[in-house]
Amino acid sequence: MGAALDVRKEVNIDEFDKRDLFNLAYFELVTNYYNWNWMREKLTDFEAFGITDFAFVHFDIKDFKMVNEIYGHDAGDDLLRRVCQVLHEQDWTYYTCRCDNDNFAMMVHRMPDQEIQSRLERMFASMDRLEADRHYPIYFRCGVASIDNVAEYRATITDLAKIAQHFGVKANETEIYFYTDDMKRKQLRSKMLKADLDRAMSEEELEVYYQPKYEPSTNTLVGAEALIRWNYHHESILPPKDFVPYFEQEGTIERVDRFVLDQVCRKLEQWKREGVKLVPISVNMSRAQLYSPVLVKNVMDIVNKYDIDRRYIEFELTESLAYYDSKYMIEVMKNLRDLGFMLSIDDFGTGYSSLSLLADMPLTTLKLDKSFVDEIGHDKEGRTSYIVKNILEITKFLKINSIAEGVETEVQKDLLKDWGCNYIQGYFYSKPVPVALFEKMLRNQSVGIVDSVSSEE
Ligand code: C2E
Ligand code: CA
Ligand code: CA
Repeated sequence: MGAALDVRKEVNIDEFDKRDLFNLAYFELVTNYYNWNWMREKLTDFEAFGITDFAFVHFDIKDFKMVNEIYGHDAGDDLLRRVCQVLHEQDWTYYTCRCDNDNFAMMVHRMPDQEIQSRLERMFASMDRLEADRHYPIYFRCGVASIDNVAEYRATITDLAKIAQHFGVKANETEIYFYTDDMKRKQLRSKMLKADLDRAMSEEELEVYYQPKYEPSTNTLVGAEALIRWNYHHESILPPKDFVPYFEQEGTIERVDRFVLDQVCRKLEQWKREGVKLVPISVNMSRAQLYSPVLVKNVMDIVNKYDIDRRYIEFELTESLAYYDSKYMIEVMKNLRDLGFMLSIDDFGTGYSSLSLLADMPLTTLKLDKSFVDEIGHDKEGRTSYIVKNILEITKFLKINSIAEGVETEVQKDLLKDWGCNYIQGYFYSKPVPVALFEKMLRNQSVGIVDSVSSEE
């Protein structure tokens, strides 16, 4: 092996003036703002810059890639410049910088966490819309290391802020997290889970549970939702909230969703062969799956392995998915609908999808979010009831099925039934159950599919 490559001597330093060199070292080209080098020097030797204590903030822009993809790179660059502008205007910071891509850092005055929190909230609120399209919301994912022993950490304090930052996994909101030691433990766990998915799949630790759906006037079982569970080392059952958010971040969730679809198809084929009366089963579709360019191919590759009627498969898409690119979402939905699948809009009423989108989406089912159901029977002024009744009216007009999720009490079930809600899902009837138990429930009923959409066709 020869000597390590070092081309630095090939360039004559006299060709550069001091200012150029300084600019290259400490500023970055897109925004002309301070870069990470600039910040790092301050972090490693903050006392030399007259700082005795500080808190460190690290944040990025959620789905910055989408901005570039939808509005183009100029709009993306404008957004980065805008963030730098806002950073520069903050009067409670020592130093701020753009680290790289859409990552930014701040050394701020140490003050009570609540104070830091509200200042950050105000700062993010001042840039929560895209200049290129004022309807497009911008969300941030922010971690704060506000700790007592900053001197011990110095430049590695960035790691703590980043750990906290990674707890921001929700799609449609700005999230600010303060580092705690507990986060470090959780982070380790999530890393382990991610590394563990291959093993989990091969050792059949991923399990599909089924939560039955009922027709409330006859109490017949008319369908089910497939919900993933992780039987971790065959020891404890992890609910999706313990791993789905981490997988969503990485796009790994697509693999899980394909697995669920495969399992559901396999069961449907088996039940069909055994003469069990079939009911439609719904599977959840993640954002990664919906926006995957090979979605339809992936779905068909799975479904075509089995001899089943596609109208027994329903995809649940959460309302908030529409936010990123509703046109694209509708396009995908039309493709899936043309192929004969059923389509449901999940968590309806929690996201931002406007009522007008409802008319454009080729839906078969609208699923009313649990937050509405929770209010039923409790809201004294009847506001929720009024809204729910009217949403149900709209579904009737649009000729789509309605289902309410998270129904826990008889009162809720009866009211929803009286207001014309077609189906009910919730603990009142049944929790999600393992496939063997669901199969028993299915066999014990002689049911027909209550499926007003396809029966009209
Ligand atoms: P979701 O799609 O809104 O699913 C409904 C959740 O509500 C399920 O939680 C279900 O167990 C719960 N639930 C149903 N009835 C009741 C009730 O009466 N009371 C209460 N308190 N809860 C009820 P689960 O199974 O923990 O799933 C949580 C979320 O994880 C799901 O919300 C979905 O967003 C996600 N998820 C689950 N399975 C999958 C999957 O296979 N793929 C993807 N992408 N996401 C999944
Ligand atoms: Ca769902
Ligand atoms: Ca839901």
